[in-house]
Amino acid sequence: MPQQTGLAVDPGHWIGGRRQRSAARFTDHSPIDGSLVGEFDRGGAEQVDAAVQAAQQAFPGWAKTPRAERARLLHAIADGIEARLDELAAAETLDNGALLRSHLRGVIPRAAHNFRFFADWLLDGLHRDDLDTRGHRNRISWDPAGVCALITPWNAPLMLATWKIAPALAAGNTVVHKPAEWSPVTASLLADITAEAGLPPGVFNVVQGLGAEAGDALTRHPGVRRISFTGSVPTARTIAANAAATLTPVSLELGGKSPLLVFADADLDLAVELAVGQYDNAGQVCLSAVRLLVAEEIHDEFLHRFLAKAGQLKQGDPRLPETDLGPQIHRRQFDRIDGFVQRALAEGATALLGGGPNTDLGGLYYRPTLLTGAAPGSEILTEEVFGPVLTLQRFRTEEEAVALANNTRFGLAAAVVTGDPERAERVTHELVAGTVWVNCFFVRDLRAPFGGSRESGIGREGGDWSFDFFCDVKNTVFAP
Ligand code: NAD
Repeated sequence: MPQQTGLAVDPGHWIGGRRQRSAARFTDHSPIDGSLVGEFDRGGAEQVDAAVQAAQQAFPGWAKTPRAERARLLHAIADGIEARLDELAAAETLDNGALLRSHLRGVIPRAAHNFRFFADWLLDGLHRDDLDTRGHRNRISWDPAGVCALITPWNAPLMLATWKIAPALAAGNTVVHKPAEWSPVTASLLADITAEAGLPPGVFNVVQGLGAEAGDALTRHPGVRRISFTGSVPTARTIAANAAATLTPVSLELGGKSPLLVFADADLDLAVELAVGQYDNAGQVCLSAVRLLVAEEIHDEFLHRFLAKAGQLKQGDPRLPETDLGPQIHRRQFDRIDGFVQRALAEGATALLGGGPNTDLGGLYYRPTLLTGAAPGSEILTEEVFGPVLTLQRFRTEEEAVALANNTRFGLAAAVVTGDPERAERVTHELVAGTVWVNCFFVRDLRAPFGGSRESGIGREGGDWSFDFFCDVKNTVFAP
């Protein structure tokens, strides 16, 4: 029997401002050591229907609540997150195995910031009445759309959920959230925090459960007016098909296979730092620039410095302050990652670093890996691995670098390291990606659009873009 972790979290759904139970359960284990985090309620069509109905009932009152009052409540939720920072960070680390120090310093505070940012953004902006048509005044307004279904993954559970919950609520919508079944804990704690903050019953609801059950029922429900999903491409196809039946607008934030382009004129120390940084969260980051594309002239020196730096990474228990890399989330994900690596090696690639499980640590710890010599077009260069696995390719010309960078079905992000501003201008225009970083990585501004091109997604969220999606935008024309 796995050991109990003793975490205090309610395993039930949160519907209409109270806990509701269902008979079926699913178990949640910690990736750190396999201990049992909890047995959570496994919702289905019945619980989803109850949650959507609760959200529908709460909608008119919440939509009419003055913006300032909505903003006050969202700030109170942010206060609650900040007050429980240590508890939330420890719970999230136990649940998904990401570094405790990252949760404490960045990820959980960002969840609180999401609420503050979207509360204030709506207060400050989002009305236009300056369009004049032959003396007629156009008033453009962002009206709440109704019940929003929000479905999120496990790699940054609370942060990614609040990135959707906050704008949806700020805009006057009500929400049904379905968190990932591998990381259900902080969604349940957030429900407690919203209640303590005084959010009216039914405005925010959580249905726990499996994607193919609770998630599927939620995306088919005719009472839902928006579906915002972050997760994998295969799931997005199913969700988009479900949404087609009810003509519900979808926002899809999906996977990636982002490139890091290092030109001969790059600051090599910076390039190496950014490259090694791609092992962050044990490679379980959608934006990760996992394909290292390096100019021929500096390739060997880059590799030498990369291996020296990456060799210092410390893998182990994510609760320890000295750890750089924790475990993968789940056995299924671990085996999938190893499958990619072993197939690439069998097809002729070479592991310059790692190349398999960390047998010293056992469990779900996978060695940070760098592969080279993979065949052009092979799966390791084109499919999302979602683990600590980078590939290295060399290029001779700028054109070749851009062609290699764009040679996937994805288009989520890209990073360019160069000392030449004109090159940066040229190359960034050529890259297919929702976000491109030049001589930096992961600098995120919530006012900026975020999303992916090609199979990395549909739509953009962030700033006004979030409200464009979560609202019915209306134009009213007044005669002179
Ligand atoms: P996933 O698609 O397996 O699951 C994501 C969520 O969808 C979970 O809550 C799951 O329960 C639910 N789900 C699964 N099947 C469903 C169905 N049939 N109907 C409705 N819901 C369903 O993805 P994952 O493995 O949890 O997450 C990893 C993926 O997420 C990677 O591809 C990663 O790149 C992507 N991701 C993207 C972003 C982004 O912002 N673009 C951010 C983080 C993660």
